[in-house]
Amino acid sequence: MVVPYTHEPFTDFTVKENKQAIEEAIQYVKGQLGKDYPLIIGGERITTEDKITSYNPANHSEIIGTVSKANQDLAEQAMEKAQEAFKTWSRWTPEARANVLFRAAAISRRRKHEFSAWMVYEIGKPWKEADADSAEAIDFLEFYARQMLEYKDGAEINSRPIEHNAFTYLPLGVGVTVSPWNLPFAIMAGTTVGPMVAGNTILLKPASLTPVITYKFMEVLEEAGMPKGVVNFIPGSGSDIGDYLVEHPKTRFINFTGSKEVGTSIYEKAAKIQPGQNFLKKTAIEMGGKDTIIVDREGNLDIATDAIVQSAFGFSGQKCSACSRVVAHADVYEELIERVKAKTEELTIDAPQHASTYMGPVCEESAFDKILEYIEIGKSEATLVTGGTGDKSEGYFVKPTIFKDADPNARIMQEEIFGPVVAFTKANDIDELIDIANNTDYGLTGAIISDNRDHLEKARHEFHVGNLYFNRGCTAAIVGYQPFGGFKMSGTDTKAGGPGYILHFMEPKTVCDQF
Ligand code: NDP
Repeated sequence: MVVPYTHEPFTDFTVKENKQAIEEAIQYVKGQLGKDYPLIIGGERITTEDKITSYNPANHSEIIGTVSKANQDLAEQAMEKAQEAFKTWSRWTPEARANVLFRAAAISRRRKHEFSAWMVYEIGKPWKEADADSAEAIDFLEFYARQMLEYKDGAEINSRPIEHNAFTYLPLGVGVTVSPWNLPFAIMAGTTVGPMVAGNTILLKPASLTPVITYKFMEVLEEAGMPKGVVNFIPGSGSDIGDYLVEHPKTRFINFTGSKEVGTSIYEKAAKIQPGQNFLKKTAIEMGGKDTIIVDREGNLDIATDAIVQSAFGFSGQKCSACSRVVAHADVYEELIERVKAKTEELTIDAPQHASTYMGPVCEESAFDKILEYIEIGKSEATLVTGGTGDKSEGYFVKPTIFKDADPNARIMQEEIFGPVVAFTKANDIDELIDIANNTDYGLTGAIISDNRDHLEKARHEFHVGNLYFNRGCTAAIVGYQPFGGFKMSGTDTKAGGPGYILHFMEPKTVCDQF
C-alpha cells in the first residue's frame, strides 16, 4: 500500500537549523560552480566541443557550468536509444515504473536544499522561491507515481455473458519534453516523469538557461534505478534540435511548456504529417499568461495588497501565473495603489544567496532589455507609480514597477512582459471588472478579492481562466491541490498535477474476448 499523497511542506527559514541547512547547501554549490557536464544518451556520457554556458544572472561574470550541446546527429542518436529503451521500459510493470519515481522523490527530498541552492545560482531564485520549486518537483514525482498506480488496470467497462471486455491504457512511444527556465526543476521534472511513468521514453531538451539543474536531476533518476535510454538528456538550441525533434516522424508526442510564440509554432509543426509517419502526434502545450487580480469594492485591502505584491513580484514576476494586471473598483482604486506602492517600496532586491532577499535578478540580458523596453512603453501608455529602472552592471536587476491608469487595451495590459511590472486600471461595477479581466488573449490564472459571495460566484462562472483563486494571490498552485493549466492562448490546459494528467501520454485500448 502506498501512503496517501500530501504535498511536500515548504521550509521555514526562520528556524535556525533550516537556515543553516540552506546556507551550507549554498556553500556546497558555490564550490561546485564552473564544472563541465556531458549529454546523457542511452545512459552514455557524451562530451561535445560545442557548449552551452550557464551564467549566474545575479553576477553575470560567474559561470555556473558548461554543458555539452546536442546537434541533430546526436538528437537522432538519442531518438534511436529512446526507441530501443521503449521496448523494455513499456513492459515494466506500472508498479516498477512508479517505484523509480518514488525513489527519485526520496533522493530529491534528501538533496532538496542542494537543488534549491543550484536554482539560487543558476536562475536567481531567492530561497523561498527555490524551495517551492524543489517541493513542487518532489510533488510531481509522488503524484504521478500514484496516478500510474490508479490507471494501471485501465477502467471499468461492461461485459456480457458471451464476452469479456477490457479497457487498458498503453504508452505511446518516444516523446519530447521541452521545458522552460523559470521553474527549472519542477516543470522540467514534472513534464518528464509524467509521460515517463506511463511507459514512454523521453528526449529531454531543457531550457538553455538552466541545463545544470537538469543534469543534476538526471543523476537522481539514474540513482533511482531508471534504465538507460528511458530519459535522454539533450540540451541544445530550441530552433535547431527543438525543431528537428518536433518534426521527427518517430516523435509520438511533445510535452512543451514555454512562450506562446514557440508553443504555437510547435503545435503547427507537430500537426504536419511527415514522410514515414503513420500516426497523429499528441501535443501538450502550456504557454504564457497575462494574469489579472480583481479587487472588488467589498474586497479586503490588506489581503489585496499582499496578494498583488506577492503575485506580481515573487521571482521578479517571471511566472506564467504572475499578476501583471490589476482591475480595481473605482471606490478603492487610489487607496489600493497607495498601499501596494508602500509595500513594494519595502521589498529587498539583492543577490538571491542572501536570506533577506525578496527579489533577485531577471534571468538574462535579453529579458532585462525587453522588460526595460516595456517599461518605456508603459511610461507612454500609463502613469508610473514606482520603479521603472534597472541596473545590469553586475546582474540583471529591475526595480519592481507599478503603472496606474492603463487603458485595458494598452500593450502593457495585453502583452506578456515576464518581469516585475504590474499595471492598474479601474472599473465601476462587477460586470466591468470581470469584462476587463477577461479582455486578453490569455486565460491562465486570475484572482478576485471580494467579501461579496454573489460576486465571487459570478467570477466562478464568468472569469475565464484555468486557475481561479478567491481572496488570495494568483500564483503558487500546488500539485494535486490546484491542478494547473490555462485556457485560450495559454495552452492546451493539460492541468499539470491534476486528475488524468498522464492519460495525455497514453492511448486506451479496448479488447473484446468473445466466448
Ligand atoms: P521559450 O518558449 O523561449 O522556451 C521554452 C523552451 O522551448 C526552451 O527549452 C527553449 O529552448 C525551447 N524552444 C525554443 N525554440 C524552440 C523551437 N523552435 N522548437 C522547440 N523548442 C524550442 O520560453 P521560456 O523558456 O522563456 O519560458 C518562459 C515562458 O514560459 C513564458 O511565456 C511563461 O509564461 C511560460 N510558462 C508557462 C507555464 C504554464 O504552465 N503555462 C509555466 C511556466 C512558464 P532554448 O532555451 O534553447 O531557447
